[in-house]
Amino acid sequence: MNKEGALTEMSRASQPVEVAIIGSGPAGLTAAIYAARANLEPVVLEGEPSSTSDQPGGQLMLTTDVENYPGFPEGVMGPELMQRFREQAIRFGAHIHTVKASRVDFSSQPYGIWTDDPDTPEPTLRAWTVIVSTGAQSLMLGLDREIELVGHGLSTCATCDGFFFRDQHIAVVGGGDSAMEESTFLTRFASKVTVIHRRDALRASKIMQQRAFENERIEFMWNTVVEEYLGDHALNGLRVRDTVTGETSTLDVTGCFIAIGHSPNTDLFAGQLEMKDNGYLITEPNSTRTAVEGVFACGDVQDDYYRQAVTAAGTGCMAAIEAERYLESLSR
Ligand code: NAP
Repeated sequence: MNKEGALTEMSRASQPVEVAIIGSGPAGLTAAIYAARANLEPVVLEGEPSSTSDQPGGQLMLTTDVENYPGFPEGVMGPELMQRFREQAIRFGAHIHTVKASRVDFSSQPYGIWTDDPDTPEPTLRAWTVIVSTGAQSLMLGLDREIELVGHGLSTCATCDGFFFRDQHIAVVGGGDSAMEESTFLTRFASKVTVIHRRDALRASKIMQQRAFENERIEFMWNTVVEEYLGDHALNGLRVRDTVTGETSTLDVTGCFIAIGHSPNTDLFAGQLEMKDNGYLITEPNSTRTAVEGVFACGDVQDDYYRQAVTAAGTGCMAAIEAERYLESLSR
């Protein structure tokens, strides 16, 4: 049986699968590797290619060098790393389908998942357990060429990319705790960090503000918005506008970190899984169990703190092991 492609072999009348995995970043594919090696033949709905970070392979598909994933002392390109995860999952029997889930029904087991018209009465497949690993997206400014410049001067993760900007002048956009944390962290590498904020007051907590204000390498551009990314293949500057005077100017930076927040991909689960106020899925402490029996959540969709590929992979492993043990406990 072909293990990739459309869900052709999965007719609506077929038997429920043991494990369905929704999402194919480091969390989902690690869950697939573990579930496949436990002979559970997981079905992975990897998503569909799009122009945003919500796509098969997740956020690493939009990065270039990944230097902090263990096992790659020379570094590895983000897309290559995800391709390796994918091949490893297929090698052990995961069935990967390039489709997006359009609806889920977690009201009774086996759970229903639709991949086409959500109004179709019968789901596309049913599963005894579901692992949710739909990830999160960094909020972006929505400017031209934004996605193509990620990894070429533009970044959304100081922990991941700060190292590449040694002795350079870089910008951070945002005025919340993330922007303050990233700016402060980036001064370990950069010669200067300019925080660009759209208002004249920060949203960040006082202690984070104070830390940034006291850092000699950080300066602030208040009431300022970025209007354009400059540079052909790599960022070499920003066109910015003062929102009070209307004046535009160029800021010569070789890097720009967007730190205006994140959004988890959880719309699909509204009303079915418990979420925090910020939309991230709630799991039991030290576990990937959600409040719905047999439904597990792993990776960035339930992590608004670490947000790293390696932590996502770790929770993907946990989800597969928990799903396997749960299946063993089911009397069917
Ligand atoms: P946030 O608190 O929502 O702040 C986002 C910032 O980005 C705000 O200053 C906002 O401006 C600005 N912004 C939003 N959209 C923008 C746009 N389109 N263009 C320009 N600027 C834009 O997000 P966050 O900083 O990621 O923090 C999220 C949560 O995590 C918060 O609860 C925060 O306290 C927490 N957090 C905590 C820590 C820590 O304690 N170590 C670290 C990171 C995050 P306005 O202010 O004008 O709205």
